[in-house]
Amino acid sequence: MATDVEIAQQFTPKPITEISDNLGIAPEHVLPYGRDVAKIDLNSLKQPNDKQGKLILVSATTPTPSGEGKTTTTIGLGQAFTQLNESVCLALREPSLGPCLGMKGGATGGGYSQIMPGDKINLHFTGDFHAITSANNLLSAAIDNHIYQGNALSIDPRQIVWRRVMDMNDRSLRKIVLGLGGKMQGIPREGGFDITAASEVMAMLCLADDANDLKARLDRTLIGYTYEGKPVHAKDLNITGAMMALLRDALQPNLVQSFEGTPAFVHGGPFANIAHGCNSVIATRMAMHHADWAITEAGFGFDLGAEKFFDIKCRIAEIDPDAVVLVTTVRALKMHGGKDKKDLETEDLSAVAKGLENLDKHIESVELFNKHPVVALNRFATDSDAEIALIKARCEEHGVSFAETTHHANGGKGAIELAKAVMESVEKSKPYQPLYDLDLTVVEKVRKVSRAMYGATDVAFSKQAEKDLKHVEQLGLTHLPICIAKAPSSLSDDPTLHGRPRDFEVTVSSIQINEGAGFLVVLTGNIMRMPGLPKKPAANDIKLLENGIIEGLE
Ligand code: ADP
Ligand code: MG
Repeated sequence: MATDVEIAQQFTPKPITEISDNLGIAPEHVLPYGRDVAKIDLNSLKQPNDKQGKLILVSATTPTPSGEGKTTTTIGLGQAFTQLNESVCLALREPSLGPCLGMKGGATGGGYSQIMPGDKINLHFTGDFHAITSANNLLSAAIDNHIYQGNALSIDPRQIVWRRVMDMNDRSLRKIVLGLGGKMQGIPREGGFDITAASEVMAMLCLADDANDLKARLDRTLIGYTYEGKPVHAKDLNITGAMMALLRDALQPNLVQSFEGTPAFVHGGPFANIAHGCNSVIATRMAMHHADWAITEAGFGFDLGAEKFFDIKCRIAEIDPDAVVLVTTVRALKMHGGKDKKDLETEDLSAVAKGLENLDKHIESVELFNKHPVVALNRFATDSDAEIALIKARCEEHGVSFAETTHHANGGKGAIELAKAVMESVEKSKPYQPLYDLDLTVVEKVRKVSRAMYGATDVAFSKQAEKDLKHVEQLGLTHLPICIAKAPSSLSDDPTLHGRPRDFEVTVSSIQINEGAGFLVVLTGNIMRMPGLPKKPAANDIKLLENGIIEGLE
């Protein structure tokens, strides 16, 4: 089969102004970045509209290492709505260079369900990641400079919680010593880098209502403590005005299109294992404002991205999806049934049957939010009809809709059955119910998510996590929602456990306060906020050809 890049060459994007016109966005709100990409001014949200703005959330069963096609399915579903002549708009995350160059490759879909221009979107795009990185690191520089210049605020260099960020998988920067070299080079202290997709600036940009709200979030960001143990916030350093200047353009959603002309906002890119995992609130609202059907994606499995979509994003943005799609694949279920990654291409009904318990858990999890999923079986060429029949039968037992899709091979027409099932499911949709109330204690919130979403028996807190909890209490922040950082490849906090793990405890190693974003990051297991590159990074296969085409990004 042709590679994603070869397939992409068969399609010529329409001028982006044609796409924005089709969405009914007034030309004065469209800021083209070349021919194929535009940023859209936030004032377009104030244009009168007559759209239904129904929201569809796409999530998935627990992914295997290669990713099982959530983004591809989201794009394919969007194309199916376009084929049905429906007014539709996608809202997706911006790819991070970490996975692009590291383990996974790009994030613009695959086969005949892609957004374009894939090379630009996957690499530097409109510079949003650069802007977020710069704003974050300006604050870091301001903190160290403040201490160097006399430290009027009495910031304790040993208690700075604000870290530098970079959009790269680079484990050697996780823990470093800053300011070495003598009197003129600053005050030595321990520091380190996180990946930009895990940064609080990314989360703030993705959760902000508008520029004023983003400024208020930046102001209240906790950066560390004084020698007396009092909190210090970004506002105290008089730097958030400049951070806003750096973020001005990044706050505007980016508009692109799929192969079949489906409009797509691609904006904001927090990971779901170490951050909250959904594109910006502004882009989701824009998609809902300008279309009858807005389709969005929450990263990794339902337990990670979608739990945060409901408990953090829906709560903050006051939105509620009208339909939930749960993507699954025969390959993933086989792995959950105990098959090795190398043996996924041959039929194995007993492995699929065993792996179905992972799908069971995710269906139950969707129901805990008062929603009924539509299960989308993303078909791979090596799947057998008998394997698919098993999955369909299980969905029937659960009383949830099922649709097989072939959008990777066939584009939008391969997802028409899914689109119809989604439209039908909207009729029965009830308001969502969050998993936990905000007035529970932090421990109770973590226990609730761990038991209900992951299937844990209980949670354990390390000594460090207990200390962190005390800080949260002292600062009066126990009412915040929680953002659990957890391994994506398992329902548990142990990445090696497949299927539906039982009889396990979740161990909380530490808790970080993201006061600006408005949540507490609860780190479990050995999860890192700065990934490393694998032994053979995807970057080894990427090339710039003489004709200017970039190969190997898929
Ligand atoms: P996710 O969003 O779940 O991480 P992606 O949509 O990015 O996953 O897909 C991961 C990879 O799998 C991509 O390279 C994509 O082209 C490929 N893929 C997805 N669906 C199919 C399919 N049905 N057949 C073959 N390859 C697929
Ligand atoms: Mg994806």
